Formats: sequence, structure tokens, C-alpha cells
Amino acid sequence: MKIGVSACLLGEKCRYDGAGNKDEFVVNQLASYFELVPYCPEAVIFGTPRESIRLVDVDGEIRVISNKQQKDVTEKLAEVSTTLALKAFNAKLCGFIFKSKSPSCGVERVKLYQNNDSNICEKKATGLFAKAVQEKQPFLPVEEEGRLHDPWLKENFLMQVFAYRDFDEFLQSNPTIKNLIEFHTSYKYLIYAKSTESYQSLGAIVANKDKKEFASILEEYKINFLQAIALKGDKNKTYNVLLHIYGYFKKELSKEEKEHILSSCDEYKEGIIPLIAVVKLLNLYVKKLDQTYLKKQKFLNPYPKELALRSDLKAYK
Ligand code: SF4
Repeated sequence: MKIGVSACLLGEKCRYDGAGNKDEFVVNQLASYFELVPYCPEAVIFGTPRESIRLVDVDGEIRVISNKQQKDVTEKLAEVSTTLALKAFNAKLCGFIFKSKSPSCGVERVKLYQNNDSNICEKKATGLFAKAVQEKQPFLPVEEEGRLHDPWLKENFLMQVFAYRDFDEFLQSNPTIKNLIEFHTSYKYLIYAKSTESYQSLGAIVANKDKKEFASILEEYKINFLQAIALKGDKNKTYNVLLHIYGYFKKELSKEEKEHILSSCDEYKEGIIPLIAVVKLLNLYVKKLDQTYLKKQKFLNPYPKELALRSDLKAYK
């Protein structure tokens, strides 16, 4: 499973000043689960070390200008960015982690200077390489390394990456409508925890009341599914999913067991215990009561448990 990464985040000394920007989370934790594929558009063009560059508003157009010589390198950087974005597309990545603030790699809030001589800027642009990758693959999960220090954004991003990989594998398997129904069923609660609207629209696509061709349903499902997994979940929706899951087998529980599960769900909602504590409890009953339908729910096991993303109280807002 491959993730594209701005090369400096892996510690490669490809920054303009000859240094790296090693990110401990990316290098120490993600490297155990993903093949991290490095990309550095600036080093390809200018070598390292090199003159730094910045984004400048020139008559309403975003240009890339070198800081000392004031050379306009927009076309060069755009060309290499397009080439590397195509390379990233062909590499079949499941996500991309970009270096924040960079005029090449920043996804958002990159400084855009008012003009060549000005030090006045607004943080509102996107780096050229990040833009090229997103244009080539609009649904590819992307994040900046800085934002991944937020447990909520980190959990959402990695959940999206694993779901993206699952869907890609599903598409490669030459699926039938029966396979699509099975796939959709396994993702019902995960989607529900992100958006009830997406949950309903994906259900309607699979139900296919208009008797559309399978290829057309699959394409429609693909777009809606990839948009749905890009949405951020929240605590209230997750709490509702926990109650739905509990509702599946509550008739088979004693009064004490019911109270225990419901109070755990409430404690999760109140921020007293992390989600993993409730999910472990539910998984215990799913196994004990042999709940076939629930066993297949991705929501209950969306990624390797060792990532411990649901152990953080701040992973849900
Ligand atoms: S931010 Fe991007 S362009 Fe700059 S050094 Fe890192 S990988 Fe290279």
C-alpha cells in the first residue's frame, strides 16, 4: 500500500537550504504500514541547495518567483509538477502527505505575496505540485504533515486512505452487482458515521430503482463513495452508529449488559473514554453472539488496531 510523501518529510536533504524536514510521525509510524514514495519537484529542476522561491500575485495571476534573482520559474515548476503528478497517478497511491507552507507542496494557506517587492502576503494559495496532484486525482486522500498532528484529522485521513485502498481493490476485482451490494453493506456504518445524506444516496444508488446499467451504477457509486469517505466524521454521528450496532443484538442481552454498553456509549460521547473502549466492547458481543452482518462492518475494524487512532480522546469532535 503506497502513500506519496513530500520527500523532505522523509528526511531527504532536498530543501532549498540543503536540509531535510523529517516528520517523526510519517517516518516512525506510517512507514510500518505503507510504502512511502518520495516526490520533490523543486530538487528535480533546481538541484539542492538552491535559491528559495515564493508565490507572487502578478496582475491577478499566481507566478513563482525566485527570491534573490527574481526569476520567474512558473512554467518550469508547473511542467515538472505535471510530470510528477502523472508519475504519482501511475504509482497507484492510496494517499499523499504534503509538506505544508511550501510554494510547491502546500495544499492550502500557502503565502501569496502581493507583488515582487512586497513582504505583504495572504495565506491563501496552493503549491503548484499539490495542485497538479489533486487535479490529476481529485479523490485521492491528501493531507499536510502539520495537520496530521491533530488526532481528529489524522484519524479521518487514515480511515479515508484505507477505505480508498479497499475501494480500489474492489474495482480491480471485476465486480458484479452482488459484489457491489456486499461492498456497500460492509461500509454502511462507516459512511453513516460521516454523513447520513451520503448513507442514503449510496443506498439509493445500489437499490437501482431506475434499472440502470451496472457500469453506470458503478461509476455513480464510485464518485459518491469517494466523496463520502473524504468527509470528516463527528462524535454525535459516531455515537448514533454505536447505538445502531447495539440495537442489533440488544434483545439478546441481560439488563446489566445493556446498561453497561449504553453507559459506555454515553461516556464516549461525554469525552470520558475513547472510542476504542466502546468498539472493543461491541466487538466482544458481535463475536460472542455471532453477528454475521456486524462482523463485516468496516466501522468496527477500519484499519490496523496498532495505529491506535481511536485510543485518543481528541480523535472525535
Ligand atoms: S516541500 Fe516539496 S519541493 Fe520543497 S523540499 Fe519538500 S518535497 Fe521538495
